[in-house]
Amino acid sequence: MIQIEKDAWDVMVAHAEATFPNECCGAMLGDIDGDRKTVRAAVKLENAFEGSQAARYELRPEDLLNADREARRQGMDLIGIFHSHPDCDAYFSETDLKNSCPWYSFVVLSIRGGRFDHANSFLPNAEQTHADREELRIPAAQAAR
Ligand SMILES: [Zn+2]
Repeated sequence: MIQIEKDAWDVMVAHAEATFPNECCGAMLGDIDGDRKTVRAAVKLENAFEGSQAARYELRPEDLLNADREARRQGMDLIGIFHSHPDCDAYFSETDLKNSCPWYSFVVLSIRGGRFDHANSFLPNAEQTHADREELRIPAAQAAR
């Protein structure tokens, strides 16, 4: 289960809406207690994909490293990656799976017409052949929108 605190969630949704109609991406920082993950902060990262960004994102490894360092500086861990699907459902695509890392949670935000619609979280397996849905808890005001 992954729970996203309001401040972090607000950053994620604002970034995804501002980046529409392109995909956004970013890092989720927080802590892990058994099988319960809590996202306490979100870091906006630049979509580094050089082609059309409407259906694709790419993270720079150095941006991820910096996010990891920032997490540690604040006494947290880098626990996941988020990205958006403009005018598309929050599913985990073949490309998403191929570009995933099995030790992170991947939160996908569906943005319809520039507004947040829904979100899902995924856990890729070690072989990156399959991603299980992970229970996602987001702040209530957003979930009801
Ligand atoms: Zn995707």
